[in-house]
Parts: sequence; C-alpha cells; structure tokens
Amino acid sequence: MEETDLIIIGTGPTGMFATFCAGLREINSITLESLDTYGGQMLELYPEKIVYDVQAVPKMKAVDLSNKMYEQSMLFKKRIEFNSKVTDIIPENNRFTIEVNNEKKYSSKAVLICGGVGDFHPNKLNVDGEEQYEGKGLYYAVKSVDDFKGKTVAVIGGGDSAFDYQMQLSPVCKKTYIIQHNNTFKAAESSVDAVKRDSKAEIIMNTDVKKINGDGNTVKNIELFDNTNKTSRTLEVDAVVVAIGYKVNPSVFKSLKIETTNRYIKVDHNYKTSIDGVYAAGDIANVTDENKFALIAVGGAEAYIAINNIKKYISPNASLFGGHSSSLNL
Ligand SMILES: Cc1cc2nc3c(=O)[nH]c(=O)nc-3n(C[C@H](O)[C@H](O)[C@H](O)COP(=O)(O)OP(=O)(O)OC[C@H]3O[C@@H](n4cnc5c(N)ncnc54)[C@H](O)[C@@H]3O)c2cc1C
Repeated sequence: MEETDLIIIGTGPTGMFATFCAGLREINSITLESLDTYGGQMLELYPEKIVYDVQAVPKMKAVDLSNKMYEQSMLFKKRIEFNSKVTDIIPENNRFTIEVNNEKKYSSKAVLICGGVGDFHPNKLNVDGEEQYEGKGLYYAVKSVDDFKGKTVAVIGGGDSAFDYQMQLSPVCKKTYIIQHNNTFKAAESSVDAVKRDSKAEIIMNTDVKKINGDGNTVKNIELFDNTNKTSRTLEVDAVVVAIGYKVNPSVFKSLKIETTNRYIKVDHNYKTSIDGVYAAGDIANVTDENKFALIAVGGAEAYIAINNIKKYISPNASLFGGHSSSLNL
C-alpha cells in the first residue's frame, strides 16, 4: 500500500484549492476524484454559466474558472488521480487506509474530505438509441455552446437546468425544443416566460421521448409519444440534451464513525471532524445543520484553514500559518 501524509478527496473548487494549499505548505499529498475530470459542480452542472462572486474574477464562465483553478492546483505539481472513488476510509494504528474503487490503496496520516454533494451521474431516459448516441449528438450537459452552432436541438426536461441550457443554446442554434414529459415545469417562471417569448423555441408538453435515431455517427431524429392525444411522431433534430436531473451519490465511508448533522459532516472552526486527522471543507462540511453559504469562495477559505491545521497535525512543530504567498518567488 502506498504511503502518504494527506489524502484530499474531490477536485471541485474546494479540493482543487486544497491541493494548491497542500503544495504551499509542502505537504506530501495525493488528491482523489471519482469522476474523470476536475471541476465538481462547476463543470458537471453549470459549465457555461457566468460566475461573478469569486474574488479577483469579475466575471468568468464556470468552465474557464474550473480550468484556472486546476492550473493553480498544479502550481506545485501535486498528484491528482481521476476515476478514483474513495469507497471507504478505515482508521488503523493512528493512520487511515484509503479504499479506492473498493480496493485498499493508500495509507495516510490525514484525510481532507472535499466531496461536495457527492459524485454525479445524470439520470438517463432509458430508451433505445440513447447509449449508442451518447457523445454523438446526445449529451447530458452543455459543456460548450459552440458545439451546437446552427443545429436544431431538443432539450429534454422541465427544470432549471433544461431551461438554462435552452437559453444558452438558442442564440447559436437554428431552433430549439423543450420537451417535458408532463404538464408542469419546475423551472423558474421567468425562465419559462423567456423561452415562451423566444421565436426560435418551441415547447412540447406532456410528451415522452421513446427512441433516439441516427445514421450510426450522429443523431438524426427522435421518436415522441404525446400522452394527451396518444399519438406518435418523429421530430427531426441534430442534437439532444437530456436534462432530467442527476443522481448524486453522497460520500459514505462506512468504517469512519464520523459525526454528521442531518446534511453535513460536522466540523469545528478548524474544519476538523469528530475524528483526529480527518478534516472536511466545502459544501460537504458545516459547523451546524443550518444552511451554509455553499459557495466557491467559502469552500476555498475553508480549504485554506483546514490545510494549515492539517500541517500542524502532521508536523506538530510546524507553525500554523505558513506565511504570505507573496513572500514566495516561484
Ligand atoms: C447551478 C449552480 C450554480 C452555482 N453558481 C455559483 C456561483 O455563481 N458562485 C458560487 O460561488 N457558487 C455557485 N454554486 C455553488 C458551487 O458550485 C459549490 O458551492 C461548489 O461547487 C462546492 O465545491 P466543492 O468542491 O465543495 O464540491 P463539489 O463542487 O460538489 O465537488 C466535489 C467533488 O468531489 C468528488 N467526490 C465526491 N465524493 C467523492 C468520493 N467518494 N471519492 C472521490 N471523489 C469524490 C465529486 O465527484 C466532485 O468532483 C452553484 C451551484 C449550482 C448547482
């Protein structure tokens, strides 16, 4: 089993900044991410939205912010392992055995959990053709609006994500459809009104997608069933965005008897959990069960505090504050 001083779980904004801070404090660390890429919610849920409330960044697309954060996390050439879901944390002899994808892989002195709301898996339509055309005209998020330029796109779903995607896509698309399986929308009323006013948009209600058809390389049309009239029809589209929610698997580490509130891992003001050597920061952690400010900047500050306390935990003679980064000459 490989030994290290610190395992950081997650590469959302909190885990990425923690990775950078671990470098700043010269902590021997490895960061583990269950998905195949970094960015957490920023990349999985709203890559094309503009974020305005991160210090020194007046406005930036979440995907670009995510790339900047990754660049910063790599400043000290720290190691990040993707496709590495932490499935258990086992306390053993004052250390922690880290199980990755159900195999014992690392032994670490300390752990920092930045698992956010968990790892995300988009809900699927479960219809014929979906698997075949995934990534070939069928997507579960809009990662780059440019990929949809000039296309006719069907967005499936009636929540905020579906409407956000439609509004991002409409300016570059030939036509967009919103297809909702029932007669109500969960999206904000203002978004629904905006789409109703959009002359290039059409809303199709009470209709299920039954099949995705294509030429083997890309989507060509979708088969619909109207639940009101009980009729079927084919709709010509170039792309489909399925936005019917995500399954989120919250981080559960069965061997770690950690104190939690209803919604969070409970931490103290140093972001230490109820177990010595285990810290948590970002959306997953809170001092009480009250709503926390689940924000990028907040997670970053928490990661900073946690890492400095972890430094002291690992090396009791080290100072708590490592000094200003402006004194470095990198
Ligand atoms: C639609 C939307 C818009 C938002 N807009 C803003 C905004 O404008 N400004 C702002 O400040 N905040 C915004 N937020 C909130 C912000 O995105 C979150 O506060 C932030 O992403 C939390 O970061 P995190 O790193 O703590 O968690 P996450 O971003 O959730 O990242 C956690 C990471 O940990 C990984 N992970 C989880 N469990 C494991 C495991 N067991 N093993 C390995 N990896 C694991 C996940 O795959 C994920 O990559 C928005 C959120 C949403 C949903």
